[in-house]
Amino acid sequence: MDAISDTGTAQFELSEDQRAIREMTAAFAADRVAPYALDWDRERFFPANIIRETGPLGFGGIYVREDVGGSGLGRLDAVLIFEALAAACPAFAAFISIHNMATWMIDTFGDESQRQRFVPRLASMELLASYCLTEPGSGSDAAALKTRAVRSGGNGSDYVLNGAKQFISGAGDSDLYVAMVRTGEDGPKGISTLVIPKDAPGLSFGKIESKMGWHMQSTRQVIFEDCKVPAENLLSSEGQGFRIAMAGLDGGRLNIAACSLGGAQSAFDKALAYAGERQAFGQAIDRFQAIQFKLADMETNLQASRVFLYTAASKLDRKAPDATKWSAMAKRFVTDACFDVANDALQVHGGYGYLHDYGVEKLVRDLRVHQILEGTNEIMRVIIARQLIRQ
Ligand SMILES: Cc1cc2nc3c(=O)[nH]c(=O)nc-3n(C[C@H](O)[C@H](O)[C@H](O)COP(=O)(O)OP(=O)(O)OC[C@H]3O[C@@H](n4cnc5c(N)ncnc54)[C@H](O)[C@@H]3O)c2cc1C
Repeated sequence: MDAISDTGTAQFELSEDQRAIREMTAAFAADRVAPYALDWDRERFFPANIIRETGPLGFGGIYVREDVGGSGLGRLDAVLIFEALAAACPAFAAFISIHNMATWMIDTFGDESQRQRFVPRLASMELLASYCLTEPGSGSDAAALKTRAVRSGGNGSDYVLNGAKQFISGAGDSDLYVAMVRTGEDGPKGISTLVIPKDAPGLSFGKIESKMGWHMQSTRQVIFEDCKVPAENLLSSEGQGFRIAMAGLDGGRLNIAACSLGGAQSAFDKALAYAGERQAFGQAIDRFQAIQFKLADMETNLQASRVFLYTAASKLDRKAPDATKWSAMAKRFVTDACFDVANDALQVHGGYGYLHDYGVEKLVRDLRVHQILEGTNEIMRVIIARQLIRQ
């Protein structure tokens, strides 16, 4: 991969450690993920054991503090990891991103006892976690969520939950559910965050959704029917849940953009190789200027995405005041540009691109949802415009 880090623009001269992280991740992905990704997709198989193998590599708590077993790395390091994993399977990488988002929220907003109780087993990947914000009646307008949590038990020792979360990645497979619920007034200030174990009484899961891509992980409703959760599982204090959910999403958006970049790079590499081999009209198709221009545009879009994403990740690492805007811009730009790269790679393959065995149509299907989740690309524009107009 001719990454900008290798050609060395001053800002992104990767450190020795970052190069080592990228190489180690790429080696793992090539060995343990890439050979199986098409089968997992076809068979809708959730490879829990291979996901758990990434725990000892430090991928269970990439930007989580080291005293609770995290790797203590930064957001740019995380982007390098997700980009390399996604080159083998974007859906595999995206599951690990969601787990990291949930784990980071507990590490950052949990008290000492919550950090010690949950994070070490999440960082080692003994436990897997899901992030539960969306509801059937509220997606983009997340602050309108309705799942209600009411204090009960002696001295209010429990919350009793009623409602449902929609489209939850890993639902049924994960051990912990970091859920945004309503404990107070309407709007963002009435929302709180609870860590809910899979075996909480009154917790169940909806049917496994049949969907376009991301077949290796389940998407299901998480349903609460008088579901009892200990009050000691509340993160921070009541009313802080929307802020916690949004803080998790800044990093989540960069990770999902990295998943698009890795997947699109892989689609491009396949297209470039194929264009050199495939013969039409007595010559390789890469002799046609139409194909050459397409490849040139794809390469340009990949490199522009990489520069943009690494810049946004560095801003989040530095806690720059405009980091939220840059995370939204990077998510919007990279997921759109990289979907187009993958789709063009399919076109370069002609009819073979439409066949599962060539691996390109899976990448197109997997990358399509990145334009929708972690905030749709329209909502990214809302965030960017809001910040522009405030300035
Ligand atoms: C495979 C998959 C996995 C998912 N995983 C998770 C998960 O693990 N956890 C989780 O909490 N959620 C998850 N989601 C949910 C995802 O985040 C939502 O689907 C997304 O936020 C959009 O919400 P919605 O589907 O309700 O669409 P809506 O909010 O109903 O939007 C419909 C359309 O209207 C547009 N729109 C809405 N408001 C505006 C506006 N103000 N301005 C302009 N356009 C607007 C949207 O951009 C979109 O095009 C997942 C979704 C999918 C498909």
